[in-house]
Amino acid sequence: MEFIDLKTQYQQYKDEIDTRMQKVLEHGQYIMGPEVNELESTLAEYTGVEHCITTSSGTHSLEIALRALEIGRGDEVITVPFSWISSAEVIMLVGATPVFVDIEYETFNIDTSKLEEAITERTKAIIPVSLFGQMPDLEKINEVANKYNIAVIEDGAQSFGATQNGKKSCGATLVGSTSFFPAKPLGCYGDGGALFTDDTDLADSMRAIRTHGGQRRHYHTHVGTNGRFDTLQAAVLLAKWPDFSNEVQLRGKIGAHYNELLSETVVTPKIAKGNTHVFAQYTIRVDKRMRDQTVEKMKSEGIPVGVYYPSCFHEQPVFSHLGYKWGDFPESEKASREVLSLPMHPFLTSDEQDLISSSIKEILKE
Ligand SMILES: *Cc1c(COP(=O)(O)O)cnc(C)c1O
Repeated sequence: MEFIDLKTQYQQYKDEIDTRMQKVLEHGQYIMGPEVNELESTLAEYTGVEHCITTSSGTHSLEIALRALEIGRGDEVITVPFSWISSAEVIMLVGATPVFVDIEYETFNIDTSKLEEAITERTKAIIPVSLFGQMPDLEKINEVANKYNIAVIEDGAQSFGATQNGKKSCGATLVGSTSFFPAKPLGCYGDGGALFTDDTDLADSMRAIRTHGGQRRHYHTHVGTNGRFDTLQAAVLLAKWPDFSNEVQLRGKIGAHYNELLSETVVTPKIAKGNTHVFAQYTIRVDKRMRDQTVEKMKSEGIPVGVYYPSCFHEQPVFSHLGYKWGDFPESEKASREVLSLPMHPFLTSDEQDLISSSIKEILKE
C-alpha cells in the first residue's frame, strides 16, 4: 500500500506521458517551450482567470507574488501557524513580518472571525491556506481585505481542483498560488507551481520576476529570479490533464467512503458549506494521548500514515523572534497533536480503505 500512489498513476497514463515527453526531447525547447504556454492557457481557462504564470515551485510562486506586490521590510503579512512551512517562510524571505491567525476546529483553515483584529496599518497581504484540499471562507476574507485595501494570495498548493460556491481554488482571490509537487492533487514529476490572477499589471510583474525581471531578453525592470517551470514537466501535466477532473471526483468519493467507515470512531474531516474538497490529505483527529502510538502501530502493520503537521510555526526556532508563545493559538496547537493523515490518492481501492479502517478501529479499541 502507498500513502500516495504515483506509480499506479504513471502506469495508468504511461502512453500519453511518454509520447508528450518524447515530443519535448525531440523539439528540444527544454526551457519555456510551447508546452509551457499550452499548459498556462489550459489552467487559466480551468480556473476562470485571465492569467496563469507557471513557476518552479509552490514556494517560489508565493515568493514571486509577494515580491510583485512589493511587499518587504516593515510590512506585515497574515497567515496561519498550522500549515506547510512555505506559507510563512516566504514572508520572512521577502523581509516582511509574519502575523499568525489561529485556525478553526472543523476545517483546519483560518478562523475568519479572528482576522480583523490581526490587521494593523502595516498589514499588506493575507495568505489564507486551503489546507488539506478545501478553501477557507474566501468570500469573507476578500471582504475584509477590500475594507482595509489588503492583497489576498490564496495558498492553494493542496487545493487545486476544489471549489467554493462554484469558484475554483486559485481563481477566487487577487492571486492564487499552487504547487505541482508530485504528491499534490495536480502533480508533475519534479518541482513546479503556478500563479493565477485577473490583474494584468500584477501578472506582468509576476511573469517578469519569474524570468530575471525582464519581459524581453537583456532588459530588466524588476529584481527577478530563475523561477521557470520546465517544459518536460509541463508535458507531464498536459498528458495527465484530461483525467484530472475524474481524479478530483474519485478523491471526493474516496473521502466520502472514509467518512462512512470512520465517523463513529474518530473525528473525520468536515466539508464547509459551499465547498468541494479534493483531499490532498485525508486527515482525521484522534485523542492526542493515542496519536503517536496509532501512527507507529499502523506503520508496523504496513499501512503508510503521516502527521501533517506535528508542530506549529510559533514553535519553530526560525520564528521565535516573533515573540509568540505556547497557548497563543490553541486550535493550531490542538490540531498539531491530534492529526493523522491516511493514505489518499485516486487509485485507493475500497478493500484498502476497509483494511485501514479496521486497523484504526482495532488500535483505538485497545
Ligand atoms: C506543498 C505546499 C507548498 C509548497 O509547494 P512546493 O511546490 O513544494 O514548493 C506551499 N504551501 C502548502 C500549503 C503546501 O502544501
